[in-house]
Amino acid sequence: MPFTPFHMGPGTAIKAITGRHFSLTIFGFAQVAIDMEPLIRIVRHDSVLHGFTHTYLGAFIIGSLTLFMGKFVCQWLLRTWNAIFNFKYLKWLQVNSHISWVAASTGAFIGTFSHVLLDSIMHADIQPFWPISPNNGLLNFIPGAWVYLLCTILGVIGLMSLFVIGLWNKWAIDIE
Ligand SMILES: [Zn+2]
Repeated sequence: MPFTPFHMGPGTAIKAITGRHFSLTIFGFAQVAIDMEPLIRIVRHDSVLHGFTHTYLGAFIIGSLTLFMGKFVCQWLLRTWNAIFNFKYLKWLQVNSHISWVAASTGAFIGTFSHVLLDSIMHADIQPFWPISPNNGLLNFIPGAWVYLLCTILGVIGLMSLFVIGLWNKWAIDIE
């Protein structure tokens, strides 16, 4: 990790800038998928928490799986969300439920690669370039607290921007 939800900060900022070309839900799916490994390892009390999933090779493989699984899972979740709010006075809460392959790809791969990049700054057990090199040149590149702060600031700016953009488009909310 950083604690998985913090990764959504950069994601919301990217979504605010790129709109329909980036899927925020698949980005989120990627964050959860990649942090399943440290979660399982914490439960097992392993000494190394960040293994294969937190390498760039792992990011490519998890990103590829996320692209296909996430597209169908996230579209289903968005359609379910829309069905729940399919009432006269709640329709404004409905969202675009179609995720293009371009948006799915950018969401999946920016999701997994940015995750490894950010985690590399914070965790001594990560070897991002495995199996080519055991080195992690980014470790403590900036203090871990700054990474959390940066993710939080990007998240707040991103959410506010998405809100303003949604308002501007007469509540055509774009969070897919
Ligand atoms: Zn992680």
